[in-house]
Amino acid sequence: MRKKIIFGNWKMNGTNAEVKAFLELVNKNIEKSDVIAGLGLPFTALQTGIDCAKNVKIAAENVHFDKNGAYTGEISIQMLKEIGVEYVIIGHSERREMFNETDVTVNLKAKALLENKMIPIICCGETLQTKEAGQTIAFVNNQINKAYENISKVDALKTIIAYEPIWAIGTGKTATAQDAQDVCLAIRQNLAKIYDQTTADQITIQYGGSVKPGNIKELMEQPDIDGALVGGASLIADDYVALINYSK
Ligand code: PEP
Repeated sequence: MRKKIIFGNWKMNGTNAEVKAFLELVNKNIEKSDVIAGLGLPFTALQTGIDCAKNVKIAAENVHFDKNGAYTGEISIQMLKEIGVEYVIIGHSERREMFNETDVTVNLKAKALLENKMIPIICCGETLQTKEAGQTIAFVNNQINKAYENISKVDALKTIIAYEPIWAIGTGKTATAQDAQDVCLAIRQNLAKIYDQTTADQITIQYGGSVKPGNIKELMEQPDIDGALVGGASLIADDYVALINYSK
């Protein structure tokens, strides 16, 4: 049985004071439940997140794959581990589009995180142009094939995939629950080809793209959607709580 994993992604939002105030509100309203709740935060707010969160896992939104070195402005896995971060979002479409993230660096980051016993949330997803050309599944599966290159079955089981169609991110346009389900199923079928069905059946696949309290339930009811990665709505404490408590 896969547990639902619902993470917010605050992107470049959130001072330490804002994160503290948010978590104080959220902590009171989130109980340990069947849902694993999480929050992706900017590097500067991670320590506050770790210190203040009760039943919320804290994720970084990026990391460098190398141990250390001359990479001005970058953050290493060791630096995140030292403060207790366990999850890292990698390959978000905003990083792919604006900051040169590629399938190769996503794979390097995933491998380095797994070697360090951390959990990568591997983002994939197509542009509107790719969708309109009917190439969604081929495109996404190619991203997944490259992300999982040289990752063992045992390690693959520890990963999370976030399927996020780019045209649905921050646009208010959500994929229909059926469309999101179809792509998540195709990703799982592809994972079964890379590994085997038993492995594929255990890997968490989230959907992301304009998820809100009003549409989360229908998305979570889909058999191959195991959670969500949520941008905009996760910034509002009441909405975040409603997302995590969607089944109550
Ligand atoms: C995201 O940034 O991962 C995302 C899905 O954003 P939004 O929920 O705002 O579409």
